[in-house]
Amino acid sequence: MTARSKSVVSDAEQVQLAAELARLGARLQVLETETNLSRERLLRLYKEVRGESPPKGMLPFSTDWFMSWMPNIHASIFMNIHGYLVRHTSAKGIRAVIRAYKLYLEHVQLNDLEKVLSFTRAWSLGRFFEGKMLDTAACKSCGGKYVVHAMDLHKDYECGLCNVPSRAGKTKKRAAAEALKAPARTVAPIAMPVPAGFLLGAAMSTKRSKRVAVALAD
Ligand SMILES: [Zn+2]
Repeated sequence: MTARSKSVVSDAEQVQLAAELARLGARLQVLETETNLSRERLLRLYKEVRGESPPKGMLPFSTDWFMSWMPNIHASIFMNIHGYLVRHTSAKGIRAVIRAYKLYLEHVQLNDLEKVLSFTRAWSLGRFFEGKMLDTAACKSCGGKYVVHAMDLHKDYECGLCNVPSRAGKTKKRAAAEALKAPARTVAPIAMPVPAGFLLGAAMSTKRSKRVAVALAD
């Protein structure tokens, strides 16, 4: 392959990646970080895909958001899926984040849960793990792996599902009430010794199993 045709292929891949990120609702900063396309091109592409200009301003996210009750459960589901993909498939980097996020969306839909993690949140979560600011710890009661601050002590860690704080869901009453009313649905995905495997197993036990299996195999 000549240098010229190679760069055309690479450029097409970058455009395809940027478009996929925009479709998933990623902020412009994510596209800028993950591709080497100019800001001008990304802006045009974003507008074409989303039909509107990207929101202005910096990414407002801090690690603390992932520690509140409901976000922590969803962040943990996402990181379990992501970890499983990285260990058992060839997916790496941003491709692994995209595939994990799509599986997270399927999981949320199949279990009638509220989508708590946006793509940009999920992407930030991955960056916080890379930066060793966040980590996972095993719950002493259920054995599930949950997102925690890397610097904290986790010897007697108990997750938010085994030890529901009294204030849980005060701000998101409906979501909390639903989660508590249907504990089997909410607890089961991560209250297992092999949470990621179970998550994916649950995702595959439906009529959509073929598509998920194909997504995992390629
Ligand atoms: Zn637990």
